[in-house]
Amino acid sequence: MSEQTRFNLRQTDLPKQWYNINADSPVPPTPVLHPGTMEPVTPEFLSVLFPMELIMQEVSSEAYIDIPEEVQEIYKLWRPTPLVRARRLEKALDTPAHIYYKNESVSPAGSHKPNTAIAQAFFNKAAGTKALTTETGAGQWGSALSLACNFFDLDLEVYMVKVSYQQKPYRRIMMQTYGADIYASPTDRTQFGRMILEKDPDCTGSLGIAISEAVEVAATSEGQKKYSLGSVLNHVLMHQTVIGEEALKQMDLAGEYPDVVIGCVGGGSNFAGLAFPFLRQNLKDGQRARLVAVEPTATPTITKGAYTFDYGDTAKMAPIVKMHTLGHGFIPPAIHAGGLRYHGMAPLVSALCDAGHIDAVAVKQRSTFEAAVKFAKTEGIIPAPETAHAIRVTIDEALDAKEKGEKRVILFNFSGHGHFDLAAYEAYLNSSLQDYEYPKEAIEEALKDLPQVNL
Ligand SMILES: *Cc1c(COP(=O)(O)O)cnc(C)c1O
Repeated sequence: MSEQTRFNLRQTDLPKQWYNINADSPVPPTPVLHPGTMEPVTPEFLSVLFPMELIMQEVSSEAYIDIPEEVQEIYKLWRPTPLVRARRLEKALDTPAHIYYKNESVSPAGSHKPNTAIAQAFFNKAAGTKALTTETGAGQWGSALSLACNFFDLDLEVYMVKVSYQQKPYRRIMMQTYGADIYASPTDRTQFGRMILEKDPDCTGSLGIAISEAVEVAATSEGQKKYSLGSVLNHVLMHQTVIGEEALKQMDLAGEYPDVVIGCVGGGSNFAGLAFPFLRQNLKDGQRARLVAVEPTATPTITKGAYTFDYGDTAKMAPIVKMHTLGHGFIPPAIHAGGLRYHGMAPLVSALCDAGHIDAVAVKQRSTFEAAVKFAKTEGIIPAPETAHAIRVTIDEALDAKEKGEKRVILFNFSGHGHFDLAAYEAYLNSSLQDYEYPKEAIEEALKDLPQVNL
């Protein structure tokens, strides 16, 4: 009965630096291209959207970048986050595997996203930015950035995908409580939004469209407003590495080292945040942890998409990057894991997958809820639908270990709780939830419209 389940760090153990995988990555970085000229972007082009400090981080090859004191102070509201051994889940599965999870759901916004939101708001404030614009799918990113802008006294405009705006009023109210302005995208506030609405007045939106609107507002604000992105970019992934740096110390406290590290992937940031410090140990310290990125079969970006140059948004205004993509025109099926519906993938995660350093699997929606309910009933916390994807593969690994009679140490990122996603659980419990497999023909069609890049 004296078995330990929580491995806690002291506040003084909070990481003082972020880790930049670019310093150690065996794959060279690919250029970021201007959406009009298709030439590599200049810092001047990026500086319309981002403050210079974040642009420097984006292209940095330094291994470690200091976390400003002001950011550390806010991190301390909930960090270091717990590492938990899921002993009750292990027992329920009757597996010899040891299952650990890093609980990022304890942040005020309920997910890992404040780790970068706080940093981005800080660097914008320091550069004199007055307001930020952004998009949000399920509302997780919008609520994290609302929290951050509130702390640093910045105004915020959030373009929220219309279907989520309608399905998830509580996330909207949370953002408004922190003081942000929320618009259901497509809106009539932007040229691009008006164009979409003219063609299809009932359009329920997509992350790609909402990004286009938020980018357009920042780009036409004459320097008053900057744009902020919650995933995909190098600096965002770097800010999330506090997760993995803490987890390395905590696995040490537990006296174990993971054989497998698992995270769900939308744009790739929570996965990278946990996995990149472990990848460094693989590359430099002789460790051999298997890194597994989990995506939905409804948006199979890595497992079925192309690895190629594509636009970051639907309107072709955002930079072109080399990534796994389903095509910038991709409109995803309405799965409940709103945070996993983006058409692309972080270039860093894409390149490392392509080179074989990261594995990817796709799982079906109903099986993820089955896993989430098992987790809720054993460990108590109701997971976000995104997180449920990581739990599905964790359980599959634990059952595989059982079948093979192996003691396997599994670590996954508990990226967020599902307290605002209970309508999704209701649909699962009353059996109205559907599985989606995105058709191959639709992907082939969407990939016909890629930018013509000569490199
Ligand atoms: C946004 C979100 C994700 C997906 O985004 P990544 O950038 O891939 O991490 C996953 N889980 C939760 C809880 C989220 O809010």
